[in-house]
Amino acid sequence: MRRTRILATAGPSTTLPVLRDLIRSGADAFRLNFSHGTHESQAVMFKMIRDAAMAEGRPVAIVQDLGGPKIRTGEVSAPFTLNHGDALTIAAGAFMGGRGRVSCSFEALFSSARVGDRLLVNDGRIELEVVTSNADALETRVLAGGVLSSHKGINLPGVTIRTSAVTAKDEADLKFGIELGIDFAAVSFVQSADDVSHARRVAAQAGAPDLPIIAKIERPQAVEQIESILDVADGVMVARGDLGLELPLERLPAAQKRVTRAARARGVPVIVATQVLESMVVEPRPTRAEVTDAAHSVDERADAIMLAGETAAGAYPVRAVQMLDAIIREVEAMPDHADVAPDAAARNRPGRPLCEAAVALAERSGAAAIVAMTEAGKTPRMLAALRPDAQVLAATPNARTAAQLSLTWGVTPVITGAMTIPGVRDTLRNRGIVRQGDVIVFVSMHPKLSQDGRNFIHVERI
Ligand code: PGA
Ligand code: MN
Repeated sequence: MRRTRILATAGPSTTLPVLRDLIRSGADAFRLNFSHGTHESQAVMFKMIRDAAMAEGRPVAIVQDLGGPKIRTGEVSAPFTLNHGDALTIAAGAFMGGRGRVSCSFEALFSSARVGDRLLVNDGRIELEVVTSNADALETRVLAGGVLSSHKGINLPGVTIRTSAVTAKDEADLKFGIELGIDFAAVSFVQSADDVSHARRVAAQAGAPDLPIIAKIERPQAVEQIESILDVADGVMVARGDLGLELPLERLPAAQKRVTRAARARGVPVIVATQVLESMVVEPRPTRAEVTDAAHSVDERADAIMLAGETAAGAYPVRAVQMLDAIIREVEAMPDHADVAPDAAARNRPGRPLCEAAVALAERSGAAAIVAMTEAGKTPRMLAALRPDAQVLAATPNARTAAQLSLTWGVTPVITGAMTIPGVRDTLRNRGIVRQGDVIVFVSMHPKLSQDGRNFIHVERI
């Protein structure tokens, strides 16, 4: 039984047989990266993931990752070298750029960047300083040189970008994703809780008010406002790729810890992302440092770890998932994981005492499993937030809920139509999930402590 979930990014490397192999090897959920591809290609991949999950008989979550306001340089006629001290103009529009002058179609760059701001281009390889700024152009000077080619990312560390994290393209993409039937949406470059609310409004307009929204924490502003973001997000991702550019790199570990712990204290699922087994994009084995970093995330008991290029475009996608699965299992078998005290709001949430009681009963009785009977997934999610030693099974009639729960720490979803204790007990026994003689704790709660008898806790030896 593995607790920490694996979120694998789909891409050119994930053909149908590879997807099936990834699921067999332990991928619990897939990310569709809407920074790339077309609606047509995304729809094909979406269907392929669902087909692979069906063929493997496993519920699998699909996360739509919205591209967000990623700033990029426009096309250049040929790559050229920038040297320290050179001047480079970045001008509004979509013209063909060349030495000394490149385009950028992202309008908010020009209203956001000020004289003295630093621009990081191409994953931080090139560093520019803004010398003059006006409404449609920035004159910059090169602080650290490199080769500039077309469509390279531009980051503005610490500068507030005057735009919502949900762009017009993201809105259209999200509506499209909801039509496809995505299980989660992830919002990139969140700057404040408002960005999450914006995505939720769009989802509601598209008929999916309950779609879980994941806030990607990849700007320092988001780290600073993590508490208010956790108030409104259904999950957060420590998006280390962009966060590692926007913060001095040496501050990344502290930011990761802060976000992970704040999320865990609230019981909000947290995903650690990017460069986890990066060298496996080209190598069959990861580095020692990568293995140790992945182990650290498991020890902090993040809900999930994401693979990006390793599975999307790498040469060894299946080996990468196998490796991560093996690392997680080893670390989870170790005693003494990082503990996080719940915050007051999490402790006082309705249903929490019932879940705490279920965990205590399971521990005292040596239960084989805690079985949460659930429709929307609230009970198993609350149990998972307690990080119990006992296995958590989520019995649900709802395939969507089962898929969504495959991204939650330590929860094994079981789809069953029979939502009574005898019915669920039979399902678990028939499928060989529990055995005669096992102690099982059944629990179900309704968030508003309803009077209809749906709150209960029940222990039995079967
Ligand atoms: P991305 O997000 O892969 O969409 O950029 C993750 C990150 O920045 O770490
Ligand atoms: Mn990113």
